[in-house]
Amino acid sequence: MCPSCRSNNQAEFASEMVVHLSGRENLDKPGVWVFSKLSICLDCGFLRSKVPASALAQLAASAPIGQRLVGEQAAEDVLSAERIRREA
Ligand SMILES: [Zn+2]
Repeated sequence: MCPSCRSNNQAEFASEMVVHLSGRENLDKPGVWVFSKLSICLDCGFLRSKVPASALAQLAASAPIGQRLVGEQAAEDVLSAERIRREA
């Protein structure tokens, strides 16, 4: 079931994508290739995926410490995004 619109109209697709690190200091760094299956809601477009362990290790190794969101900080960012969405 789609967590966004509760539709059961979903399909699975193969994908290949390049994940880039954010920030000016990372502009010249190559991204990390991720090959994974995507579950896409065909009604609202909500997308779910899981990063394979090998690519996840690469992302974890190259993500700058200052840009990581952990624990309460990550939860606060989610709440802020929801607040902004409600106010818009
Ligand atoms: Zn949906």
